[in-house]
Amino acid sequence: MGCALSARSLWHDTLGETAAPRSPLPGPAAYDVAIVGAGFTGLWTAYYLSVADPTLRIAVLEAEVAGFGASGRNGGWCSALFPTPWSTLVRGSSPAEALRLHRAMAQTVVEVGRVAESEGIDAHYARGGTLTLARSAAQLVRLRAEVDVAHARGFDEHDLRLLSAHEARGRLAARDVAGGLYTPHCAAIHPARLVRGLATAVESRGVGIFEHTRVHEIGPGFARTDAGRVTADVVVRATEGYTAALPGSRREIAPVYSLMVATEPLPDEVWDSIGLAGRPTFSDGRHVIVYGQRTADGRLAFGGRGAPYHFGSRVRPAQDDEPRVFAMLRETLRELLPQLGDVRFTHAWGGPLGIARDWAASVGIDRSTGLAWAGGYVGDGVATSNLAGRTLADLVLERDTDLVTLPWVGHRSRRWEPEPLRWLGINAGLRAMQLADWEEKRTRRPSLVARAVGPLVH
Ligand SMILES: Cc1cc2nc3c(=O)[nH]c(=O)nc-3n(C[C@H](O)[C@H](O)[C@H](O)COP(=O)(O)OP(=O)(O)OC[C@H]3O[C@@H](n4cnc5c(N)ncnc54)[C@H](O)[C@@H]3O)c2cc1C
Repeated sequence: MGCALSARSLWHDTLGETAAPRSPLPGPAAYDVAIVGAGFTGLWTAYYLSVADPTLRIAVLEAEVAGFGASGRNGGWCSALFPTPWSTLVRGSSPAEALRLHRAMAQTVVEVGRVAESEGIDAHYARGGTLTLARSAAQLVRLRAEVDVAHARGFDEHDLRLLSAHEARGRLAARDVAGGLYTPHCAAIHPARLVRGLATAVESRGVGIFEHTRVHEIGPGFARTDAGRVTADVVVRATEGYTAALPGSRREIAPVYSLMVATEPLPDEVWDSIGLAGRPTFSDGRHVIVYGQRTADGRLAFGGRGAPYHFGSRVRPAQDDEPRVFAMLRETLRELLPQLGDVRFTHAWGGPLGIARDWAASVGIDRSTGLAWAGGYVGDGVATSNLAGRTLADLVLERDTDLVTLPWVGHRSRRWEPEPLRWLGINAGLRAMQLADWEEKRTRRPSLVARAVGPLVH
């Protein structure tokens, strides 16, 4: 295959595509809208803009190839999870508006499936929800509290509900299950198929996608590349974990790595002993996030945080490779599911996601400069980027819709601290969550470390 996606990723290996890389930008050019970055954010924006106004001249400028970034490498949870703390949302709006945003996210999970189907993208979309296991008394306490808080905020049993240990084990026969939590608002997808399929769909609507075209600077009305300037009324920054490399943006979004491993396809009898019928995505209640899915071709794809943040917000391909974290993920999955026996792990990969200082995702446009942006999704960008794309399309076209008044629109996060404070702070936060899990394992009680540090790492 001719395109340089993350070489060791399962999604890359099972893309089923032989497309040659697209041409770079040939020279200076003028467009109505220039979008920097061909991940989900950039491509969803291009998609909804081109659907709404087929006469718009739109260019997507991509340093590598479409889907090279987190969009082509993630856990494939197309979920209604939204990273911004509820308190931050409410501070800038109201509880009713915060709830409206979460409802829009649930609808977004459905919308992604709708477009995939209508555009003929075989993204292996299966809306099986998410199962979060409680694997200790402390985790169960946390999940219970989560449900209580959610119900007090206006979510109901159709949004999320507790499962008994028996029910939870019936869905995923893991070790040490004390209970669980289920939400229907998630679909498992093959992310690389979705992002590459989306690129083809927008191209067929007349959008120009230029690969191997790095943007060195974004400013009012322009994006500067090696081939010359692209001028445009609106320039959209859709660079997420890579944003810090752009002049003037070094402290806006911190790149933090998430890593994944995948098994070979498992025999039917192993699946019979594991469960996950209907392909719900799954996790457990530990502090250091882990996430898994049963893939359409019968593998387990499993990921987690735990890789260090790199000084100066550096993003390098070598940083996708963290043998210690890969080993931890394989061990965690085997511990969770002893049925795996000596099953082979065939893939290990990773990539950078993007975190704003206040953990708040945002989307917006500055009308005075024509500069637009979306991102800061942490680990929840698969569906959120679709909501961002629809919202950006409405903002660019100055449409007065329900989307443009959602409480994340126009939010400005404060900047990250300069180094070395940023490095110290982010890595201390990661370490604290690892320590909290260790503490809970030993004491079998909710972690005091997490209680003390949890609010600070947001
Ligand atoms: C391992 C992993 C697992 C994850 N799992 C999940 C999950 O299960 N569910 C979920 O919701 N989210 C998950 N996420 C997060 C999610 O993948 C991202 O939030 C989402 O894909 C971000 O999309 P994006 O288009 O904004 O950014 P990206 O997909 O990172 O795209 C940015 C693009 O911009 C390009 N670019 C950057 N700088 C420039 C430049 N200067 N000039 C031109 N092009 C440039 C990059 O090459 C890249 O293609 C995960 C992330 C990782 C890394």
